Amino acid sequence: MKARWTVAVVLATLSLVLSVYAHQDKGSQMSEGEIIAKAKAIHERALTLDTHVDIGGAQYATPELDPGSENSPLKCDLVKMKKGGLDGVFLAVFVGQRPALDEAGFKSAYETAMVKFEAIHRLAEQMHPDKCALATSPAEFERIAGTGKRAIMTGIENGYPIGKDLSLVKKYYDLGTRYITLSHSGHNQICDSSGPAQPMHNGLSPFGKEVVAEMNRLGIMIDVSHISEKSFWDVIQISRAPIFASHSGCAALNPHNRNLTDDQLKALAKNGGVIQVVALGSFLKADPPERREAIEALRKELGYQRIGRQEAQAMTEQQRADYDKLTAAFMERMKEIDAKYPTADMKVFVDHIDHAVKVAGIDHVGVGTDFDGGGGIRGFNDHSECLNVTIELVRRGYSEKDIQKIWGGNLLRVWRAVEKAAVRN
Ligand SMILES: [Zn+2]
Repeated sequence: MKARWTVAVVLATLSLVLSVYAHQDKGSQMSEGEIIAKAKAIHERALTLDTHVDIGGAQYATPELDPGSENSPLKCDLVKMKKGGLDGVFLAVFVGQRPALDEAGFKSAYETAMVKFEAIHRLAEQMHPDKCALATSPAEFERIAGTGKRAIMTGIENGYPIGKDLSLVKKYYDLGTRYITLSHSGHNQICDSSGPAQPMHNGLSPFGKEVVAEMNRLGIMIDVSHISEKSFWDVIQISRAPIFASHSGCAALNPHNRNLTDDQLKALAKNGGVIQVVALGSFLKADPPERREAIEALRKELGYQRIGRQEAQAMTEQQRADYDKLTAAFMERMKEIDAKYPTADMKVFVDHIDHAVKVAGIDHVGVGTDFDGGGGIRGFNDHSECLNVTIELVRRGYSEKDIQKIWGGNLLRVWRAVEKAAVRN
């Protein structure tokens, strides 16, 4: 009897150990070919979206900068999105922060914002209605994705263009805005940014509290990327709906002021929100000082310095040829430095996803690249490379259900909750 009991315990322990091993190492039991095939099938079936992409100025969505062109210089365009199997993207109406928190500053911020709204509408309604369409709700996103077109959603990066006029929040909503990043790299009239060391309001300003309430009322998602930690805690305390970070990383892996701490990630999970992990190299991984020193030493050794456009234009043909040769030599030697001190790549990006999943849970993590706004890393440098992320997630043992959540399911849940909390009148 005792022997049988011992055998049973041994067998149970063994099967527990094996099942834990199998869960952790699901990916590595497959061959590379099997991983890729599985990832392709999952990627094809998943609804996929990216919550943060920047657009150029007035040139965007004109023949000069056509997001429908086969060879646009953009990291996010309609061709690359289709190639990479990305169904939708939030384009950011980005307005840089100026120190002037006065009528003149607000007016110019408003004008900048309107130019970008016009560009987004021009893209979807005039230039490429056959390839994409504007979506202002999760249901519209799903419907458009189902037709094979790309869904174009709109966010505003920086609440600066709201000025002190609360009625503008509704105006921006009517133009299609479904999220607002409360600040950019500088403090504004709404809240403190994570940029400056010294606070201005110590979190949300009294007007910022009204903006949050108005966004809740209308059904606009509140984006906490860029805002200071104190602003984050103020927002999460007063928002009636889940909040999100449209493009941030994990501070535990890289203590950059743009990243969220583990406490913030836990609070985000409790709030029902989501962190959309950013693909911007310096947020994901800090350059070691040795890398900067090695680059400096190489420049000195080769006598190589980057030159400005004016200097380049003033060069003779021979000078230009010599300079190009030197550039090529520098780039060749940079490969050694890159190998010795690698910068962030797609695997580091997925490390941030892993960490956020570990701390906040699988229901609270997504993707927000910041392409065309500084984002782009080796292996995930534009939207044509989205599949690489799915391949890496499969390799690390994520299930199809998990991957669907990360590529859009979680964000759609937050968006629906924000819609539901809105007060229609
Ligand atoms: Zn940003």
